[in-house]
Amino acid sequence: MEPQQRSPLLEVKGNIELKRPLAKAASRLPLSGRRLKRGPDQMEEALEPEKKRTRGLGTRVTTTHPRAAALNSAPQTQGQTAVPRAPRKSAPRYSMAVAPVLKTQKPGPVVPAQKPGTTAAPPMVGGKKPKRPAWDLKGQLCDLNAELKCYRERKQVLDQENQQLQDQLREAKQQASVLGAERRTLEEELTRVRAQAEQGQRELGNLSARVLELEERLGTQEGLVQELQQEQLRLQEERRGLAAQLGEQERRLQTSEASLSDSQAEVASLRQAAAAREAVLAEREDRLHGLEMERRRLHNQLQELKGNIRVFCRVRPVLPGESTPSPGFLQFPSGPCGPSDPPTRLSLSRSDERRGTLSGAPAAPTRHDFSFDRVFPPGSGQDEVFEEISMLVQSALDGYPVCIFAYGQTGSGKTFTMEGGPGGDPRLEGLIPRALRHLFSVAQELRGQGWTYSFVASYVEIYNETVRDLLATGARKGQGGECEIRRAGPGSEELTVTNARYVPVSCEREVEALLHLARQNRAVARTAQNERSSRSHSVFQLQISGEHAGRGLQCAAPLSLVDLAGSERLDPGLALGPGERERLRETQAINSSLSTLGLVIMALSNKESHVPYRNSKLTYLLQNSLGGSAKMLMFVNISPLEENVSESLNSLRFASKVRSLAAPSPSGFLLTVGVCTLVLQASGTCIPKGCTFARQLTIDFWGCLN
Ligand code: ADP
Ligand code: MG
Repeated sequence: MEPQQRSPLLEVKGNIELKRPLAKAASRLPLSGRRLKRGPDQMEEALEPEKKRTRGLGTRVTTTHPRAAALNSAPQTQGQTAVPRAPRKSAPRYSMAVAPVLKTQKPGPVVPAQKPGTTAAPPMVGGKKPKRPAWDLKGQLCDLNAELKCYRERKQVLDQENQQLQDQLREAKQQASVLGAERRTLEEELTRVRAQAEQGQRELGNLSARVLELEERLGTQEGLVQELQQEQLRLQEERRGLAAQLGEQERRLQTSEASLSDSQAEVASLRQAAAAREAVLAEREDRLHGLEMERRRLHNQLQELKGNIRVFCRVRPVLPGESTPSPGFLQFPSGPCGPSDPPTRLSLSRSDERRGTLSGAPAAPTRHDFSFDRVFPPGSGQDEVFEEISMLVQSALDGYPVCIFAYGQTGSGKTFTMEGGPGGDPRLEGLIPRALRHLFSVAQELRGQGWTYSFVASYVEIYNETVRDLLATGARKGQGGECEIRRAGPGSEELTVTNARYVPVSCEREVEALLHLARQNRAVARTAQNERSSRSHSVFQLQISGEHAGRGLQCAAPLSLVDLAGSERLDPGLALGPGERERLRETQAINSSLSTLGLVIMALSNKESHVPYRNSKLTYLLQNSLGGSAKMLMFVNISPLEENVSESLNSLRFASKVRSLAAPSPSGFLLTVGVCTLVLQASGTCIPKGCTFARQLTIDFWGCLN
């Protein structure tokens, strides 16, 4: 017996494998089901032991069936030998077993002994029992008795056999019931086993599904594992690369550390050297600053020695279409050092038709000599002119007010000198763009010495004693609006023009834009009758502010570049129409302002207590650029044409007068007024302070000019 814990499925399987009979089927009898399937032969086999048993008893069973006995008895009654017949198919099974018994039966022993009185039994013919004659009834009766006896014996045997069979049947029935119970048990067992098998099948199905699922997961996991393995390989490769890099970096780090320590030592020594150098540098900076201040002082001294008021004369070239002047009309005599000396003198020859000789021949032209700080003949370039004034621009950066005028008749080249020629040719650039470029460049250089500069530009026009902003934009463009010159604040020396734009500039491009805007504004104001720009003063002012934060130094000064109105006089012979009246008014305004300028210069030269700045808008606006330590430079622009000789002479005389005020000769200076020449003695100053005579004289002189 298998242990009880074993599963039913396994138990069944074990039974099958071991081919052992089930415990409850221990009987040796065949199963009822199997016995039903047996054929006749098998049945005979089954009965074989019974046969043997019967034989063992010594009893011959011929038949148990009464019918068979009847059949067999029939021929015997007819006195014939019983012939064994082939067993009938429909006969009971046991008759088949009985038949051979009958076949082998010998009649001898069952024949009863012949009784006296009866005929003896006929002799055997051919081995067959002889048929009794019909009359031998006794014999026949005897035979029948013998046969009956035999049948009785056989019946007894058959009864015994029947009894045995009955017993066997009972036993078989008992066995059948036992087997039935056993069969039920087995069926139950089978049902249970089948249920277990089904359960097992279900579990198997579940397990198969689970296995499939697990296999699927396993496939996924394997794919993942493969990916991870690839990733691992890649990472390992990367790790190797990184390890190599790390090794390289470590080597480099070691090298770097070694060089770092070297560098640190070097840095330490360099720091020491730097500290020493810094000390030297500071000392040199101090020295440099001292030298810079000394340079400024000396520069200013030089400018003062050259004269705080200087006058340059510039003669423009003859323009295409203009008549060439006669040779010798304008001459530029060499200086004391010969032709290499920059010219400072100018001779103008004028032939006066009013003057004649006694012989009636035309009088020799009158020669007028003028001497200035510098004379620029017609071939002089803009760069040459600027070179001379660049020192003054430097003075402006050093904190000294600088004012540069262009004086002369209309068309003599004032605007060309100040702003430049047409077409944007850089060689024709005038003083204003050049001066500003120079300022920006020097300011940049001074930045290295600790100086920071800022520049604010303004550009106004003074026409008929009204001020107009040339940098006006938008709606005010060309109109100018009402501009007034005011002090920046109560008690302030600084002047400002109301409604005018003050534009900070830091580069040439911004300055160019401003000059372009000013030109546009002038063009808008221009009328057909009146070239207004020639009838007005254009004042470009740049407020320069410098600061040395390290040393707490500050400097501020205005640089003024003034393109004065045409100095020509009005032709007295002109009829005074409405246009001419306007022209006359303009001219009077111009002459008045120019006279005031002369007077201001004179008053400043004479160091008078009262300087008539307020007498004109021009001088009022420029008052901070004149006087004191201010540097003034006047360009007198001259036309090279003979037809302009009269105006040229006037301009030259005015300029000479200004120069004579500014640069007195040791013994005195020459003041030329018309045809009379006065020599004023002076010591130190040209005209003594408060000298009303000289002042009156000057006013008369300006009146005479105009
Ligand atoms: P102004 O301003 O005195 O009325 P401009 O400056 O307008 O005179 O000059 C008149 C003309 O002469 C302009 O066409 C100008 O280009 C030309 N001009 C003036 N000076 C020179 C010079 N130095 N070289 C060449 N052309 C000049
Ligand atoms: Mg002009």
